[in-house]
Amino acid sequence: MGYRYETHVHTREASACASAGGKEMARAYWKLGYTGLFITDHFFNGNTAIPENLPWKERISLFCSGYENAKEEGQRLGLQVFFGMEYGVGTADFLIYNLDPKWLLAHEDIHRENPKTAFRIMHEDGAFIVQAHPFRQRAYIDSILLFPWDTDAVEIINGAHEGAAECDAFAEQYAKMYRLAGTSGADSHNLDRIYACGVETDRKFSAPCDYRSLILSGKARLLHSGAMDLREN
Ligand SMILES: [Zn+2]
Ligand SMILES: [Zn+2]
Repeated sequence: MGYRYETHVHTREASACASAGGKEMARAYWKLGYTGLFITDHFFNGNTAIPENLPWKERISLFCSGYENAKEEGQRLGLQVFFGMEYGVGTADFLIYNLDPKWLLAHEDIHRENPKTAFRIMHEDGAFIVQAHPFRQRAYIDSILLFPWDTDAVEIINGAHEGAAECDAFAEQYAKMYRLAGTSGADSHNLDRIYACGVETDRKFSAPCDYRSLILSGKARLLHSGAMDLREN
C-alpha cells in the first residue's frame, strides 16, 4: 500500500456546517491509516463560523485554528497536516492549496475580490486551484458556475455525493472536456460521516506542493469510500 492523503476536510472551528474539531479530524484520518490530510475550511465567502466584525488579523487567526489544532494533533500522532481552504464564489466552491496563513494575513479582503482576479493573484503566488464538486445537486444550489480557464483541476470524486453518482460522473465529463486533471476529496464535516477519499501515492509528500505535482503528473490513484462512523466510544 502507498501513502494516502485526504484533500478536503472541514473543522467546526472555522466551518459553520462542521461538527468535528481539527483534533478529532486528525485522529479520524490517522486511525484510517492516512499519512496526511489538508484542512480546507470554508473561507469568509462560504459557510464560515468566523464573525465578520473583527480585525482581519483576528479573523484569520480564528479561521486557521481548525488547521492549527489538527496540525498539533498530527504532530503528536505522526500525521502530516497541510493548510488549504475552500473559497466560495456564489454557490460554487474552490479548493485552494499551496497558500498559507501568512498569505491570507497579507491579502485582506481577498474574499471580496472579483473571482478571476482572486484566482490570478493566488496563481501568481503558486496556488493550486481545484473546483470542488462542480455538479453537486442540493437545494441551496440554484445554478452551475464553472471556471475552466482559471482552475487547475476538478474534484471528480466527492465523498459527500453518496447516492448521487451522477454528480461525480458529470464532473468527470467536464474535466475531460477541458483537459483538466481530476481529484478526489472526502468533504468530511462530521465524525459520524467520515469518507476516506483523496489520493494514494508511492512517495511521501515532503511539502504541500507535492500534491499539485502528483495530480498534474497523472500518477495519483484517486480513492473513494462510503461513509464511516468514527465517533470515539
Ligand atoms: Zn460545509
Ligand atoms: Zn467542502
